[in-house]
Amino acid sequence: MSKVHNFNAGPAVLPQAVLAQAQAELLDYQGRGMSILEMSHRSKEYEAVNAQAEARMKALLGLGEGYRALFLQGGASFQFAMIPLNFLPPGAVADYIVTGAWGEKAVEEARRIGEANVAASTAEGGFRSTPAAAEIQLSPGAAYIHLTTNETIQGVQWAEMPDLGDTPLIADMSSDIMSRPFDAGRFAMIYAGAQKNIGPAGVTVVVIREDLIARGRNDLPAIMRYSTFAKNSSLYNTPPAFSVYLLNLVLGWITDLGGLPAMEARNRRKAELVYGAIDGSGGFYRGHAAPEARSQMNVTFRLPEEALEKQFVAEAQAAGMVGLGGHRSVGGIRASIYNALEEESCAALASFMGEFLRANG
Ligand SMILES: *Cc1c(COP(=O)(O)O)cnc(C)c1O
Repeated sequence: MSKVHNFNAGPAVLPQAVLAQAQAELLDYQGRGMSILEMSHRSKEYEAVNAQAEARMKALLGLGEGYRALFLQGGASFQFAMIPLNFLPPGAVADYIVTGAWGEKAVEEARRIGEANVAASTAEGGFRSTPAAAEIQLSPGAAYIHLTTNETIQGVQWAEMPDLGDTPLIADMSSDIMSRPFDAGRFAMIYAGAQKNIGPAGVTVVVIREDLIARGRNDLPAIMRYSTFAKNSSLYNTPPAFSVYLLNLVLGWITDLGGLPAMEARNRRKAELVYGAIDGSGGFYRGHAAPEARSQMNVTFRLPEEALEKQFVAEAQAAGMVGLGGHRSVGGIRASIYNALEEESCAALASFMGEFLRANG
């Protein structure tokens, strides 16, 4: 079997141990003579998976009573609509802090539903940074504040979570959830498509404070209300059972490695290898993000010419490194180095970058 260094942006690399366990359990789950794919979501086996996944989500984030972890479908993109549907009634305004392409999509979708104010945007600078506190213009009495902790396409991440007062704070953490410790108790809601940092495609995790759930509109169709999923512990209708099963295994893997502090140490070492190759290149590789807003998850950079970028991606692929082309909207190179990527993959990339520079610089 040949194994590649997987820098895909999402769906992305999964822990090898998790894939091996899923393979070992696939045909006969816990002696039941069938796979978990073939079982009722009301079975005691699946209910145990669902309950353990919720407990692990909350434990890893240091959250207890007062919060729920829900497993939904429709991707993080569905949350762009579900959040304003639930929490942005007529007459209210929500604040959006926009630091990249995903934040822009979130605010566009909110504007189809209600009044969304862009409290700060770094679009003018080409989405290279996060705004300073003084640049954020919050609306008095806003229903909520929305931000994106890591902009996957531009490779821009908040170095520290901003302090924005008592307004319910909602964060899209699709591409950096569980990558570092932070004070999750300051957020009213955190959501993430699982397919970047914590699992496969098909499940979206929503961690939400119970008082926010209670504030949701109750004149919406049941399938669009957070309260419906909270009341039924994510089992209102058939969940994406296999995705939740894999998510639960990934959360177990993170827990066993030492939780978020261990992830942060691991991720920092990996990011330093790749940024080190950029910074040591004498300007051949140019990082997109301002150094203080560099993402520890998606390393974005340019080469002197587009033709060289194409050559870089092709030669890297030939050397066993896949997924390095930048997003189609921005070009350049993007190395996604999520939780499950091993340090040796970043070492291989850094070393390839050095060789490519010597041959073409
Ligand atoms: C990938 C991504 C999304 C979109 O996720 P889907 O699950 O494809 O809808 C939203 N926000 C961020 C930050 C992402 O990285």
